Amino acid sequence: MSESILVAQALVGPEYRPAGPLEIRLSNGQITALNPAPEGAETMALALPAPVNAHDHARPLSATSFGLAGEPLETWLVGLGAMPPVDARLAARAALARAALGGVAAVMVHLTRPMGLVSLEEEALQIADAADEVGVRLALAISVRDRNPLTYGDHTPVLDALSGSHDGAAVRRLAAALARPVPSADAQIAAAEQVAKALAGRNVDVQFGPTGPQWCSVELLTAVADASARTGRRVHMHLLETKYQRAWADEQHPEGIVQMLRSIGLLSPRLTLAHGTWARPDELEMIASAGATIAVNTSSNLHLKSGVAPVAAMKATGVRVAMGLDGCAFDDDDDALRELRLLRALHAGHGFDDGMTLQDVLEAACLNGRPTLGLAPGGQIALEAPGDILLLDLKALDRDALLPVDPRALLLGRARREHILGLWVDGKPVITRGRLVRVNAPEAEAALRAAYRVAMPQTADFRSDWSALRPSLAAWYRDRLGCC
Ligand SMILES: [Zn+2]
Repeated sequence: MSESILVAQALVGPEYRPAGPLEIRLSNGQITALNPAPEGAETMALALPAPVNAHDHARPLSATSFGLAGEPLETWLVGLGAMPPVDARLAARAALARAALGGVAAVMVHLTRPMGLVSLEEEALQIADAADEVGVRLALAISVRDRNPLTYGDHTPVLDALSGSHDGAAVRRLAAALARPVPSADAQIAAAEQVAKALAGRNVDVQFGPTGPQWCSVELLTAVADASARTGRRVHMHLLETKYQRAWADEQHPEGIVQMLRSIGLLSPRLTLAHGTWARPDELEMIASAGATIAVNTSSNLHLKSGVAPVAAMKATGVRVAMGLDGCAFDDDDDALRELRLLRALHAGHGFDDGMTLQDVLEAACLNGRPTLGLAPGGQIALEAPGDILLLDLKALDRDALLPVDPRALLLGRARREHILGLWVDGKPVITRGRLVRVNAPEAEAALRAAYRVAMPQTADFRSDWSALRPSLAAWYRDRLGCC
């Protein structure tokens, strides 16, 4: 039995009410005592329920390092071809170490681009091992897709535009890969089930991860909906992230894309939708009444020029909103605390609007993501709640120390990952004195960079063809889906 005792000011209960100083006892993975700190005990730490990252991909390094800063999603995704595969365990260790140092206790990894150097089951096991090593909780959505591998529709014009002067080795390889047959819906669902079987007993919530409606046929989505209803397995999917996805959806599904998802039985409390940036109020109402959650990824939406999500409308229609980082934190540093601030700043509205209150932000970050990762209810500092606690340096946060300022205002106003003193997950220390307890993060990053330096020549021809491929892709979207 492990036991930790933290003495801190704390944001307590479902209202995140400032209290303290308190003695917080953690044992057997739970908060087992919350008592006034002993007389004279001094603390300059602030305890809050540790946030959850409800949408991510555990990308080993930021795409910015591969020349993709400022790229819209549609070209950015193809541009990820510049990243060669590296050892999955090494990649996941560095990515999940950064996640913990960014302040989250749990990460949803939507495995849309497995490295593919070992079997899918083996790769999933390696990611689970890395999560255990770091000490964070993990959910894993196994990607399924069967259409539109390059563009949201017939990609022949893209390849045709490159033929002649620009059909380099990478483009020819791409064309061959695009022509390969895709496994059936049943085979893809069976592969996801196989991963779940391999991870049985590992405390990882394995989910179906359709990449998005523009990449998945209605037949595949229907098969996922049926399998989810049959097994209770959760589903994690991107939806309406960009204006091009909106235009594609309106063209292909005039009855309404969300209506279509509802008609096939995919909308349910088991469903998490990432983004929803271009969702309309009537669609949000359907999502809310089905009890599905939307994981909003504010920084990612800005990095990839996707837009600002209608979070106030989500709230008004009763959609449960969770917070995701999508591997694209605003400063490319996985900082979940800055993300809280952005989530509020961009979605609260103007003047006296209350689109996103302090309470809403804390619920999105700490509470609402948990069920989407299959975690026990929690997200608050209360007796018998899970022992997932983030500890911040209140002295540094309250740098002027002139008045007793509400610590929530300091948290939302200025907290960054540099303010993290400690992180406890399942009652066990993951970070103490600002450092990971079990993984040497700088070493993990250095090993990963070294692996990339060795592997980079594998994508040299892709990178040389990219200068021709990129404008051809951009033209495809501008010409066909640039109407909204
Ligand atoms: Zn994503």
